[in-house]
Amino acid sequence: MPDSTPLDASRPRILTGDTPTGQLHLGHWVGSVKRRVELQDTHDCYFILANLHAFTTRADRADEIRRDTLEIVRDYLAMGIDPKRATIFLQSEVPAISELTFLFAMLLPFNRVMRNPTLKDEIKVKNLGETYSFGFPLYAVGQTADILAFRPVGVPVGEDQVPHLELTREVARRFNQMYCGVVDTVEDDDHEREGGVFPIPRAEVGKVGRLVGTDGVNKMSKSLGNAIFITDTAKQIRKKVSKIYTGRQSPTEPGDVGNALFQYVEAFIEDEGRIAELKDRYARGDDLGDGHVKVEVAEAIDRLIAPMRERRKAFEGDDDRIIAILRDGCERANATAEATLALAKDACGLGFFKRSLSMA
Ligand code: ATP
Ligand code: MG
Repeated sequence: MPDSTPLDASRPRILTGDTPTGQLHLGHWVGSVKRRVELQDTHDCYFILANLHAFTTRADRADEIRRDTLEIVRDYLAMGIDPKRATIFLQSEVPAISELTFLFAMLLPFNRVMRNPTLKDEIKVKNLGETYSFGFPLYAVGQTADILAFRPVGVPVGEDQVPHLELTREVARRFNQMYCGVVDTVEDDDHEREGGVFPIPRAEVGKVGRLVGTDGVNKMSKSLGNAIFITDTAKQIRKKVSKIYTGRQSPTEPGDVGNALFQYVEAFIEDEGRIAELKDRYARGDDLGDGHVKVEVAEAIDRLIAPMRERRKAFEGDDDRIIAILRDGCERANATAEATLALAKDACGLGFFKRSLSMA
């Protein structure tokens, strides 16, 4: 019998995850996954694969979404997420999320959703123009349900997700006020104590909240062709790092240590003393060429990724093993999300009778 009980329900809960629109890259590691790996020891962790949301921009590429979903689970395992200590699950197999999305869509003014800067930015950088689907902006509402279905205290994410978290916090407050009698003077931290169904979850942004891509301009993003993936070889890493644009002409020209290359220096070179030395010499134009710095950065990235690449090998090919991990996770995720949905339905007068979900 698969186990549907939370792994350790007495621990504070967190929820975060990824959209299967490609594989995981260094931005994911520094922005969110590194923190997730640590939190597995102290928190009840839920990691969602937002595969329905992947359809909002690529409904015509269902095969790719399926493949990327399984590949991201492999990336998780390679990066140190342990399915025995954390719940990894599919958005598409947790129906409570879709039901909450519908309810939450009524709590957000349409214009409020469209004002979300992350959504606006995505429309621009992904060239969605005026042609995006009705479902595209709905993902922002759906994400509030992804999170709140698990009633987490915190959501470890990159900086770009903070506006989504703000929307989530608004939905939670509004729901608690509208349906649970929580008055609007109640502090965020007291909502549950005052009878609210939902906590007001906090965004927990990693040390590097927005790793710039190798184009030196946009956020590193799996769908923008500017990412270093955790499956990249040492050679691919060197090649990608060598392309980071700085605009600097010569090793004796004082360099800007706020540039894209130095973001990588700070994010991936481990020795603080070495970072300080590189910054000092670069800023003074002390005969330190970009090429030299790039070689050191590429080596540091390879040291980080090499063990991940190695661990990942053990999970290549065997889809059934990956699907079994997801099935187990969905069983546990449904137990938690169904409990939340029942509370929410009771609160808004939709609790007519109990139901149970069963998986074959
Ligand atoms: P897409 O291009 O499809 O939006 P993405 O690369 O932005 O993909 P997401 O699945 O949207 O990846 O993001 C998953 C998580 O990783 C989020 O918490 C996000 O904030 C974080 N993240 C993604 N890219 C970066 C980055 N470059 N720096 C820091 N965190 C990041
Ligand atoms: Mg994104």
